[in-house]
Amino acid sequence: MHLLLQLSLAASALASAIPAKRLSVANSTIGPYVAPGTEYLSLPDPEFPIKFTQRHSSFANPGYISAVQPLNVQDLSTMVKSFNKKNLRYMATGGGHGISTGFARVQNAIDIDLSKFNTIDLDVEKNLVTVGAANVLADFADSYTGPERKSVTTGNSPCVSAIGATLGAGVGPMQGLHGLMIDSLRSVEMVTPGGDVVTASQTENTDLFWAVRGAGAHFGIVTRATYAVYDATNRGEHVNADFRFDSDAQLGLLNLLKDWDSDEVFPREMAVSVTFSYDHVAKMPTISVSAYYFGSYEAARPYLQKLVDLKPIHWRNETLGWNGMTQAAGFGQTFAKACVRGRYTTHFSAGIRQTDPDTWASVLAKFTDWSAARPWFKGSIILQRYNAKVTQQVPAEDRGAYPGEILGRWSTYDGPNHDVEVREFYQPLRDAIYRTSGFASPQVYVNYAHGDESPEAWYGPSLSRLRLLKQKYDPQNRFGPGFPVSGKPYIIRGQPY
Ligand SMILES: Cc1cc2nc3c(=O)[nH]c(=O)nc-3n(C[C@H](O)[C@H](O)[C@H](O)COP(=O)(O)OP(=O)(O)OC[C@H]3O[C@@H](n4cnc5c(N)ncnc54)[C@H](O)[C@@H]3O)c2cc1C
Repeated sequence: MHLLLQLSLAASALASAIPAKRLSVANSTIGPYVAPGTEYLSLPDPEFPIKFTQRHSSFANPGYISAVQPLNVQDLSTMVKSFNKKNLRYMATGGGHGISTGFARVQNAIDIDLSKFNTIDLDVEKNLVTVGAANVLADFADSYTGPERKSVTTGNSPCVSAIGATLGAGVGPMQGLHGLMIDSLRSVEMVTPGGDVVTASQTENTDLFWAVRGAGAHFGIVTRATYAVYDATNRGEHVNADFRFDSDAQLGLLNLLKDWDSDEVFPREMAVSVTFSYDHVAKMPTISVSAYYFGSYEAARPYLQKLVDLKPIHWRNETLGWNGMTQAAGFGQTFAKACVRGRYTTHFSAGIRQTDPDTWASVLAKFTDWSAARPWFKGSIILQRYNAKVTQQVPAEDRGAYPGEILGRWSTYDGPNHDVEVREFYQPLRDAIYRTSGFASPQVYVNYAHGDESPEAWYGPSLSRLRLLKQKYDPQNRFGPGFPVSGKPYIIRGQPY
């Protein structure tokens, strides 16, 4: 029996509420669709949470009726072609950290789990590293930390897929030094929406290479990606400093962030993430700051001193290998939180070029009052600051589809019954931030977006070219449900959202 047939059977089994089947191992009788040994399940199945990558957030999740783990790129190519022929719905899972209202539109679908694409290859002579679709940012950061004292440009969160982050742009603390992850991307191996295996780079399939750097989830499935590797700054060591403040420090901190809006003042070697939350136990707002400096403590000290001058409740700093940055950040707590799976988390974000302290003070006052009245709400407002000079200096012909700069805002709450309330609260706040963002129209980093913004906000001036490429490569619109270039309205649980 073909895998394809079995997957279709799984769909009808679910529809008639027959209990799920065991984990099956495909064998040679599966024929042309999958390689022998390919694992797949019909869902639900108790093996699914154990053997397949689970989603970080349960907000607006895709609805799967089966899941399959292609063994290699040929296997994946055959599957995509077969699923297309049968008009089956599917979506790839890399690190499972994507969140979008748009995923809720993917129902009765096959989860193409990329866990088997998990190899990392170093090319020490050419200063390149190639990672698979399943390798997360922590693997990527650890890939090149031997005596060569090299580094790669990675993101903030250890459990996001390196390729998943790159497909949106890939922001992270080393952005000031080496730019976004897309700025270090040299080539990708991918299966196109039509199922062909191709390489895309500055010399091959150049239109696809442009498109994957900012709108990558739209143009097929990237199986492997090759990145530039750099000589590590400060012999591979960086300073990690964490601060906790009470609300008395808020105004001083906002003014400091305003000073740091300038890339001439905020150093390339530094990155800062500021988190505003409400502590329901202590019944008070809290502020924490994680600062990274890719250089010596002496060089970092003048910048850290500005934070110390704001009188933190406590703070610490340590010097450690650059690849330990995400594990150390947030007093060692960030790693654990960012890697949890299955929480009800979403984010409402806005890209900003500048900090307007008055707008922020008003937003934070509303956030505090609103949070205090709702014990079920565990939200934060996170402001990330990177030096954008390197990214802006990338010549236009070498840039990808990614248009803007970013800020992230996140919230975790207890389930769909509060969706409307949370959204009604966040929307005007987001609008207020947009108005003083320094952008002429709303901009949002697509990987941090909520899903209800517009394609213009996600893709900016790249949109018209993306739409043309979409017609060329994915006319059936099978890919990129999270942030569609068409901008169709969203429906969640049968209701317009
Ligand atoms: C806790 C947390 C921290 C984050 N930190 C950062 C950060 O520091 N920097 C940053 O830039 N972003 C960050 N993000 C955003 C993250 O980059 C995006 O959510 C990204 O889409 C996650 O990719 P994934 O493969 O892990 O997720 P998935 O949910 O598996 O995939 C997300 C989307 O991409 C598609 N996709 C996944 N893999 C592939 C592939 N190989 N080829 C084609 N399509 C694919 C999926 O089909 C889906 O549409 C963070 C997100 C979370 C939840």
